[in-house]
Amino acid sequence: MAAKVGVLALQGAFQEHQKMLADCGVESRPIRKPEELKGISSLIIPGGESTTIGKLLQDFGLFDVILQMGREGLPIFGTCAGLIMLAGEIAGSRQPRLGLMDITVERNAFGRQVDSFETDLEIPAIGQPSFRAVFIRAPYITGAGAGVEVLARHGDKIVLARQDNCLAAAFHPELTGDRRIHNYFLRM
Ligand code: GLN
Repeated sequence: MAAKVGVLALQGAFQEHQKMLADCGVESRPIRKPEELKGISSLIIPGGESTTIGKLLQDFGLFDVILQMGREGLPIFGTCAGLIMLAGEIAGSRQPRLGLMDITVERNAFGRQVDSFETDLEIPAIGQPSFRAVFIRAPYITGAGAGVEVLARHGDKIVLARQDNCLAAAFHPELTGDRRIHNYFLRM
């Protein structure tokens, strides 16, 4: 059976992920209700507003189910606000988070004066050429436990990391047409 990837569709950039998955030749399904999680092979948590996504996950009864599936090994890819949802620790915030990754994140960490920017990242796990990354009010990872594999940095800041079945990007790989990070996730 072909893999069907769930894309959390409560808020944020889910359509862009669905389009990217279609370009990768993979079927996807928007997730708004717990029953829609049944039978998915992996899950993407898109960018948006992490406080809103966290609250909606609880309001829609998705929070505990996704947490359980993540603990059982479902591959989950969080981008930007989705990365924040995966973090165990969010600096200065007690907002809801799944906490599946042993990472500490700082929200809006690049500062107001650089709301959004693009840069080329070296990501050995996907090879050459470098990856054009779009950052939008992005977080970054300030600390990572021993079980976390750092996949990319921007300067000294960790912006792409993996821990077992979870992958987290501070930027938006669904926006640039480069499929390599989605394909990396699909192989997880
Ligand atoms: N700044 C947002 C947050 O903290 C994340 C931004 C994004 O997902 N593009 O939730």
